Amino acid sequence: MTSHFSKTHGTATDYAADSAVMKTYGRAEIAFVKGEGCWLVSEKGDRYLDCASGIAVNTLGHSHPALIEALRDQAGKVWHTSNLFRIPGQERVAKKLASLSGLDQVFFCNSGVEATEAAVKIARRASHERGEPNRMTVLCASGAFHGRTLGMLAATDKPAFRKGFGPMPDGFEHVAFGNLNALRDALGPHVAAVMIEPVQGEGGARHVPEGYMEGVRAAADEFGALVIADEVQAGIGRTGTLFSFESYGVTPDIIALAKGLGGGFPVGAVIASKTVGDAMTPGTHGSTFGGNPLAMAAAEVILETLSEPGFMADVRRRADLLEKGLLALASQHPDKIAEVRGRGFLRGVRLDESCEVGSLVVALRERGMLSVPAADNTLRLLPPLVISDEEILIAIDHLAQALVD
Ligand SMILES: *Cc1c(COP(=O)(O)O)cnc(C)c1O
Repeated sequence: MTSHFSKTHGTATDYAADSAVMKTYGRAEIAFVKGEGCWLVSEKGDRYLDCASGIAVNTLGHSHPALIEALRDQAGKVWHTSNLFRIPGQERVAKKLASLSGLDQVFFCNSGVEATEAAVKIARRASHERGEPNRMTVLCASGAFHGRTLGMLAATDKPAFRKGFGPMPDGFEHVAFGNLNALRDALGPHVAAVMIEPVQGEGGARHVPEGYMEGVRAAADEFGALVIADEVQAGIGRTGTLFSFESYGVTPDIIALAKGLGGGFPVGAVIASKTVGDAMTPGTHGSTFGGNPLAMAAAEVILETLSEPGFMADVRRRADLLEKGLLALASQHPDKIAEVRGRGFLRGVRLDESCEVGSLVVALRERGMLSVPAADNTLRLLPPLVISDEEILIAIDHLAQALVD
């Protein structure tokens, strides 16, 4: 723990020219060989404080004993059987997700984009089954990110991601983020659902304004549309409650989950109310791997841990500590930090135009701390939910130093 501020850590370089891996990512020239709690250790033996969590995935940090034990145990029994058979772990995880969310039915998949794509299919099918086949449009928010399949590229508000991949599927419209009037203007008998991230992740750790989620629910009800909460990033405790929508006192009809659900094991889920879920009959959707016994063993540990009494309350206490530290930094550096935003441990530091978020991510990494850039020149801090008080202070210290480098 002595090398926190040493500058011996690896730096970003161009992606290795001789690699056979397709160059869809601009990667940092670091490979990790070991993880312990909130720390990752590189091939060179450098330790990094992980405030990225593999993009909001490592809910309980690295090498969590209960996750290791559950996966080891399941790995020695059966890995995969397909959804042609009952999977007891799936039934347990589905029951838990249903009771925790107040909804009824769960479809399992393997990633975030499969969850959002399935959520849209379910919403459209539900309109179709209730005799409204023209109710097919999904309203999304400006700045939204819902994933990278063709369907979800159309839902994502980032024209650059679509370039060269057209034609896009029809039936997606975008309305201004957080603006209820704009939403109401766009609603109508053609709208199947409104799809919202309660806190936008890729969009820059942007939380919705006060009263917005309640307004979305009321407007959707008035116009006969469903509400889809894309909690792929904001769910599973990340924003201070198990589901992000909980803190707004509304219940969506459909929830998409993934990132944090398996704590590092790939798993996605869509939770739906009975009325909506009943539209999905045998043959309407599927996934070969979805909800396999290994994925369910990991998800079960995550859900059990997060629903232990006091766990989420302590996440909120520590997330407040992080927020206080960031707000103090912002008041010391009004020329560099424009805004502290987001919720819980999906926290954003929006930088002044004079600072560039990519450079700050590199500066932090060189000091031994991992973070994630987001849209809107925003630095995203996504530590494991188990980050300690001491580690939060270390993170704030790194940021304070990196800002004056
Ligand atoms: C990451 C993300 C997705 C896509 O998840 P993948 O697992 O990368 O497919 C969808 N929606 C939101 C809000 C996300 O943050």
